Amino acid sequence: MNTVPAPLLAVENLCVDYHVRVDGQRAWLHAVSDVSFQLAGGQSLGIVGESGSGKSSIARALLRLVPAAAGRVYFEGQDLLQLSGRELRRMRRDLQLIFQDPLASLDPRMSVGDTVGEPLRMFEPALSAAARSARTTAMLEAVGLSVQHLHRLPHEFSGGQAQRIAIARALITRPRLLVCDEPLSSLDVSIKSQIANLLMQLQRELGLSMVFISHDLAAVRFACSHVLVLYLGRVMELAARDPLFSAAGHPYTRALLRAALPRAPRPARARAHVGLSGEIPSALRPPSGCVFRTRCAYAVERCAREQPALRRVADSLVACHRAEELAAEPPLATLAG
Ligand code: SF4
Repeated sequence: MNTVPAPLLAVENLCVDYHVRVDGQRAWLHAVSDVSFQLAGGQSLGIVGESGSGKSSIARALLRLVPAAAGRVYFEGQDLLQLSGRELRRMRRDLQLIFQDPLASLDPRMSVGDTVGEPLRMFEPALSAAARSARTTAMLEAVGLSVQHLHRLPHEFSGGQAQRIAIARALITRPRLLVCDEPLSSLDVSIKSQIANLLMQLQRELGLSMVFISHDLAAVRFACSHVLVLYLGRVMELAARDPLFSAAGHPYTRALLRAALPRAPRPARARAHVGLSGEIPSALRPPSGCVFRTRCAYAVERCAREQPALRRVADSLVACHRAEELAAEPPLATLAG
């Protein structure tokens, strides 16, 4: 009998809440609500959505940089949320994070060599100084820097070079999972594709799994095998890349694609092909029923009453009461191709 391999990462019903003050009153902001997904070894999952959709809260909760209010995060079968501080520190070798602003994530007083080599001191203390230096140099070369950069400080580098240093530091211990939180958004357009290419190349060479958080749909399409679409902390759609980009099932996904493709031809009958209008509502006061209903061209009375469950429609998991009707409409002229 064939057995299905366990996923590397399995997130179940993850919730992240923040205690905030509004008009002098304490309130709970539900940043992430009931989010579930799985990631197999070597796969990459893009998490997309507008600002305020909860993408970064998921990234941080996966690595316990913010507490989860509920849910489970299994990494190789172990629930990360239940690990002691010591167990978690050991596990960090296999779980690394790259932040949006590379310069802010690097210690300004540490040389590049010390920055990149420091995780080896932590996780492989038996390595000799010579072996550590050789690994550090090899890693710098793998990200397109050189031995001449070893003794320089972070402020001497451009944003793209600083992100290369952050990637080298994150990957030097050969982690199994890399969480990238908007790794391209602070970079110049000309540098973005270089860093995206570098991440893809290293992912292939090292067999990495990746959670890639971005609002850049073109980058996600380039970098990811699967895509999760988030709105107000809830999953709207989860699918493999090709079906999502060629036949998106959720009105929000279609609107995001449309916004990324302002000049794409618009099929005559498809209301879901209109772009996004208005602002994302406050997570402090989310709409009743479907949280997307205040901006949805398809909303009907049921949408205000009933929260749609995530269910399989065609090749996607979609949280929409009218997903079957949308599936029958002509697909958006897409980013594909
Ligand atoms: Fe639009 Fe209703 Fe579907 Fe929500 S459930 S996306 S409001 S049609």
